[in-house]
Parts: sequence; structure tokens; C-alpha cells
Amino acid sequence: MKNYNKIIKFLDLQKINNQYAEELKQAAGEVIDSGWYVLGEKVKEFETNLSRYIGIKHAIGVANGLDALRIILKAYIEMDVMKESDEILVPANTYIASILAITDNRLKPVFVEPDIDTYNLNISLIEQHITEKTRAIMVVHLYGQVCWSLDLESIAQKHNLKIIEDNAQAIGAQWNGKRTGALGDAAGFSFYPGKNLGALGDAGVITTNDDKLAEIIRALGNYGSKKKYIHEYQGLNSRMDEIQAAFLNVKLKYLDAENQKRREIAKYYCQNITNPCIILPVHKSHFTSHPQEQVWHLFVIRTLNRDHLQNHLSEKGIQTLIHYPVPPYKQKAYSILNKLNMPITELIHDQVISLPISQTMTLNEAEFVVDVLNKYEYQK
Ligand SMILES: *Cc1c(COP(=O)(O)O)cnc(C)c1O
Repeated sequence: MKNYNKIIKFLDLQKINNQYAEELKQAAGEVIDSGWYVLGEKVKEFETNLSRYIGIKHAIGVANGLDALRIILKAYIEMDVMKESDEILVPANTYIASILAITDNRLKPVFVEPDIDTYNLNISLIEQHITEKTRAIMVVHLYGQVCWSLDLESIAQKHNLKIIEDNAQAIGAQWNGKRTGALGDAAGFSFYPGKNLGALGDAGVITTNDDKLAEIIRALGNYGSKKKYIHEYQGLNSRMDEIQAAFLNVKLKYLDAENQKRREIAKYYCQNITNPCIILPVHKSHFTSHPQEQVWHLFVIRTLNRDHLQNHLSEKGIQTLIHYPVPPYKQKAYSILNKLNMPITELIHDQVISLPISQTMTLNEAEFVVDVLNKYEYQK
């Protein structure tokens, strides 16, 4: 086995941001010198840059990804599209933020099992969950893989449901030439430092083509106010910082190149991990009539004895994480939902482990990971 003396970090944020250190420092300097620190020119510039990149009319900066999703739903409530105790369909195996956005608005999450191959919401199971209270489907492009199909579009149309995208993990991904964040009625993005496009702190954005929705969202994030000291809605404070927008303006330019690097690592893993006790991710890039481009926010494998494999990798200096060890409905925070029975979701949570992948990971590092994995012997 090739010897690799360094620790292979799961994600090296220092290395990622150090690539652009000069530009980032200059951007920070401009903000410090400007004397304007929230919702200013840098935020406007980022909103314009991002809406162009996504191919959408409106991009509205907010404080983080959870707020992006919360505020979309809050705006739909203001528009009377939905009201307290209405139902939102959502994958059962998502990060808890997707669920918090729903329950925080006193809406009811209705969990749908994922597809065991893609780990994304199983679109063929949607209709059996629809009731007269269903108002929206929240799709999560989990791990950077697009969750979309023509069937999804026609189900939403037939039942008059909004489609909200949780695009926190998939910025830059495409379905049939369109970017995620421009597929549904509205989308929430996160720029948490570890996301594919990461700020140096918290930030988020909402995208939509709906003028009315955009107008309400903009007001909601700024105390429900369109005009200073005039409050039309019971809003909240969820504003984007100028300094984060300035950093994101720098980093957005490199996003496509960085996502391409992730694809190279993912491709290398897919082509070279041959150990039969490891189940590789199924990525629907090539074999669909509507071509998809994934962005590999995470590279998630499955194995029967996940803890054993994780310890083994750790002994070899390879850091891994579990996304996620416990599904939201099994958390103490949702104790009334704990007895739900979702076998596919639970199997996924029991078996998944995320390998290191990032825009700064080298092929040498990936080679070492593959080498260790292929020599790994499964133990019951
Ligand atoms: C990160 C994440 C969020 C929330 O983003 P924050 O900026 O951390 O609030 C929401 N949904 C998913 C799927 C995420 O991965």
C-alpha cells in the first residue's frame, strides 16, 4: 500500500479559502472602507450575479439557508397559498433544516421515503401522500444530486402544489440544461462555509421567478418592511451581510471550476472503488432522457458495518462523516413523530458514510482512499 503520511481531512476550509486569499482580503477591505455593512451594494451585486448564474429573475439575500426556506413558506402564508396545519411533502432523510423550516411556520411535514439508489425523495410515492391539505412539495437535492423529473412537474400541476427546492447542497447542478434553484416555484440556498459555495460565515439566498413572492420575501427578511419604519408583515431579521456578499462575489466566479474538480474526484472513486462490500452512489448523469449534472456536495457510500469501516479509515488517517446518523423524525426535537416507520430512510441512516471530497482534494489523496477501501475486509 502506498504510504500516505498526512491526515486526509474530510474538508479543508483553510485550503479552500486560501486559494483566493488575496482577493478575499481585498473584498473585505472594500467593505470595511465603505462604512455600509448590511444589505448594500455588495449584496445587490451578489444577487445580480447569482440570478444570472442560476438563470432566474429574483435572488434575495438572507442570513442563512434555514431562513431561506422558512421565509419562502412564510411568504406563501402571507399570500394565502397555505395556512397553519397545511401539509408539505418532504423527504424523510433530509437534514433537519428542511423540516424546521416547515414546523417553524406551523405547517405539517409529511415524510416521503427516498429512493434507495439516489437517496432523493422517491417521486413515485408522492401521490399516495397527497390530501386536501397538501400545498407544496419540498424537494431536497441531497448530496448535490438533482431531484427532479417530468413526473414531479405534472404531479404538482395536477394537484396545484408549489414545488420548493432545498438547494443548500446542490448549487451549480443542472437538470436538462436548467440549474437547480430555477426548476421549482422557489428555492432556498445556503452558503454555510462547508457548502459548495461557502461564505466565511453564514449566508443564504432565495430564488424565484414570482414577482409578488419576491417582493414579500424581501420585506419579510427585513422586519416585514418595504419602507423604513413602515411594517406590512410580522417579519424577521434575516439580512445578508455586505462582507459575506463580497466574499461570495469572489468565490462565485470559481464555482463551476470547483464543482468540476469534485466531479473528477467522484468519477475516480466510482471507477476505482471495487470492494464488493461497498455500495457506490448511483448518479443519474448519463442514462436519462433529461441529462443531469451533479455537483457532489458529498460522496456517500453504504456498507453493512459502517462503524467498523469508519474506524478503519480513521486509523489510516482518513476523516469521514455520517450524513446523517439520525433522521429528523427520530430526533428528540420531534418526539411526537418518533414512532414513524420509514424502513428505507432508516436503512440509509444506518449504512451511509461520507468519504472526503472537495475542490482542493488531490487525485493522490483520492488514490490513497481508494487503496485503503479496496483492501478493507468487511467484519460482521
Ligand atoms: C445546510 C443545509 C441547510 C441549511 O443551511 P444553513 O445555512 O446551515 O442554515 C438546509 N438544508 C440542507 C439540505 C442543508 O444541507
